Amino acid sequence: MSEREAAGRMVRLCHLYPDLMNLYGDRGNVIALAQRCRWRGLGVEVTAVGLGDRPELAAYDIVFMGGGQDREQELICHDFETVKGHSLGEAVEDGVALLAICGAYQLLGRYYLTSAGVQMPGLGILDAWTEAGRRRMIGNAVVESDLFTPPRTLVGFENHSGRTHLGSKARPLGRVLKGYGNNGEDGQEGLVYRNSVGTYLHGSVLPKNPWLTDWLIERALRRRYGEAALRPLDDRLEEVAHRAAVRRAGG
Ligand code: GLN
Repeated sequence: MSEREAAGRMVRLCHLYPDLMNLYGDRGNVIALAQRCRWRGLGVEVTAVGLGDRPELAAYDIVFMGGGQDREQELICHDFETVKGHSLGEAVEDGVALLAICGAYQLLGRYYLTSAGVQMPGLGILDAWTEAGRRRMIGNAVVESDLFTPPRTLVGFENHSGRTHLGSKARPLGRVLKGYGNNGEDGQEGLVYRNSVGTYLHGSVLPKNPWLTDWLIERALRRRYGEAALRPLDDRLEEVAHRAAVRRAGG
């Protein structure tokens, strides 16, 4: 896509619950998405959507929701049940590009059972469920993902007590090389469904994994405009950041 083709194209980004769901730099994901669009000459509009707001989420191109602790998750869970759940479900089925980190990822599955024994119903969009374990899974993680051709690594920081298990139809985002991933047992990390990605990787994850950022942007553009070959950017700095994070994780 040339500068001329990009002109006039607009990417509508929805940041869900920015005040409540924002751990370990998750907000940086919105900055990375917006900036990589702008560098390519695409227009960007970022809308913050909070508790009680009732937007039509399928009208957006990209929806982002960061991680949060159990207390925040309970508030979101209630808002999903009473206000936004239906709209978010429709958006995902309609192919909106969605990135859900950690606590958000958990709430898109069937349920999340906390260490205090509270069972929060999830949206059930993703074929996955989460139950808290006694030990928190904390540290830098490296994952190999075949979402890309050729496969690429993804790096990030994880901190969760929830163990997520995928149903038989769910496709993991990647295979854990370092760290815990979904549950510390089956070697899987995250989940991909339609144009939605759920992952435990904070960090923020997108600035140092630009191929994942571009995957989301490309999916979003394809849905709205039918085609989208993204112009490559000079990613030398991002590559350096990625490699440094891999080294730090001991990968
Ligand atoms: N409260 C959830 C857990 O501990 C999610 C935490 C997070 O988003 N980092 O599993």
